[in-house]
Amino acid sequence: MNRATPIAIVGAGYAGLSCAVELALRGFPVSVFESSRTPGGRARVVTVGSLALDNGQHILLGAYRETQRLMRRVGANPDRLLLRQPLSLHYPGEMDLVAAPFVPPLNLLVGLLRAQGLSWAERLAALRLMSALRSDDFLRRPDRPLAAVLAETRQPARLCRLLWEPLCVSALNTPVQSASAHVFANVLRDALFGDARSADMLLPRTDLTRLFPQPAIEWLIRQGHNVLLGRAIRGIVHEADGIRLRVEGELQPERYAGVVIATAPWHAAALLADLPEAATEKAMIDALAWEPIVTAYLAYPPEWRLAAPMVGLCGGLGQWVFDRGQLGGPPGLLAVVISASGRHQALQRDDLAQTLHDELAALLPGLPAPQWTQVIAEKRATFSCVPGLSRPLAQTGIDGLFLCGDYTQSPYPATLESAVRSGVTCAQAIDAASRK
Ligand SMILES: Cc1cc2nc3c(=O)[nH]c(=O)nc-3n(C[C@H](O)[C@H](O)[C@H](O)COP(=O)(O)OP(=O)(O)OC[C@H]3O[C@@H](n4cnc5c(N)ncnc54)[C@H](O)[C@@H]3O)c2cc1C
Repeated sequence: MNRATPIAIVGAGYAGLSCAVELALRGFPVSVFESSRTPGGRARVVTVGSLALDNGQHILLGAYRETQRLMRRVGANPDRLLLRQPLSLHYPGEMDLVAAPFVPPLNLLVGLLRAQGLSWAERLAALRLMSALRSDDFLRRPDRPLAAVLAETRQPARLCRLLWEPLCVSALNTPVQSASAHVFANVLRDALFGDARSADMLLPRTDLTRLFPQPAIEWLIRQGHNVLLGRAIRGIVHEADGIRLRVEGELQPERYAGVVIATAPWHAAALLADLPEAATEKAMIDALAWEPIVTAYLAYPPEWRLAAPMVGLCGGLGQWVFDRGQLGGPPGLLAVVISASGRHQALQRDDLAQTLHDELAALLPGLPAPQWTQVIAEKRATFSCVPGLSRPLAQTGIDGLFLCGDYTQSPYPATLESAVRSGVTCAQAIDAASRK
């Protein structure tokens, strides 16, 4: 592979831009093609009237270090753009759990000891599951749904409802009945048993496009690379002396030494459909199933605020509510999140917004009717993170054609961090191929 010939990257989400930045740092010229006018993919800003809203609320963990490293590299300071808080689960009237500011495992032990609303039997059960997930043996045993592990370790129903089910659905976007216990253990181990800051929750204080994609693009352009927004790649043509791209309807004359497909998995499968040498990767993508995430924004008068920037909801449809006013947005704007499939999918948007308002009113007595609501439903937010998935590697069956994205091989579920890491891994694979 010739290091002076540009590498084309298809998709300017967190994966594609991480790959582009890492390649640029390694001395490769890059050209990024993005079909949308707004970069960021499934973590992007959406303009509604005069408001900039995110397509969904995103939480990062302190353990998600590659995202923070690349943010710094392009001049987006994570200490300013992310609100760092100790891992905390607030369920008003039910449970309050805050990790203590000590090194693991003391952070959790002390957090559990101080937790309000948990019985001693529930605290002991929580420790039992954590030590099971931490044991070296756990990942050597065949993977299975997390629900089976909850039953094996005798987790009380209330603890499952308040702790394990919300943690699993937020981290894996898959319900405990079908979620991979191995992937859940990977996330928990890195977050809870890393260093003192690994378990912190990092909440974006700016919109998701400005958090990383926009600074990454500005950095790439300053370094002399190409970023073309509003340019969809409709086909990939593999020829003996390189790879060519069909941009919109037209086959371009340029030949690339390397092409990275950094789109969402279903778009990657469509681009691979005409390339029989990449049939294995396409088959792996075709075997994935999807889980939705719904975000309902409800705007209230500015004096309405939550006790914390993020509060748990239980017993209804809403799972978490974010106070956007405490996260750099307009005061009074609340965002309710419902991850994974569920009974909310049977409701029309207006009925769903009304139901979620009723749930918020139970939390905040006297809450007036919202001034406006906006429901954003991402039907294929992430792949369904079930046991035993085969996820494709960066290198495809075609020399010079690579994949990156949150669905490629990784110990993590579909997250910003797995997208960023996949981009970096892909850049390393291209670098290694260029030295052969
Ligand atoms: C509502 C919601 C909430 C979430 N919450 C969290 C969370 O709390 N924490 C967390 O870590 N993760 C969360 N995620 C997951 C996270 O957003 C994704 O894992 C991550 O953004 C995936 O990045 P990606 O770059 O792999 O893919 P994408 O973001 O899908 O990027 C692919 C890009 O490719 C472009 N593209 C597609 N086809 C073409 C084409 N033919 N030509 C050119 N460009 C093309 C797309 O427009 C897009 O910009 C959430 C996701 C959603 C939807």
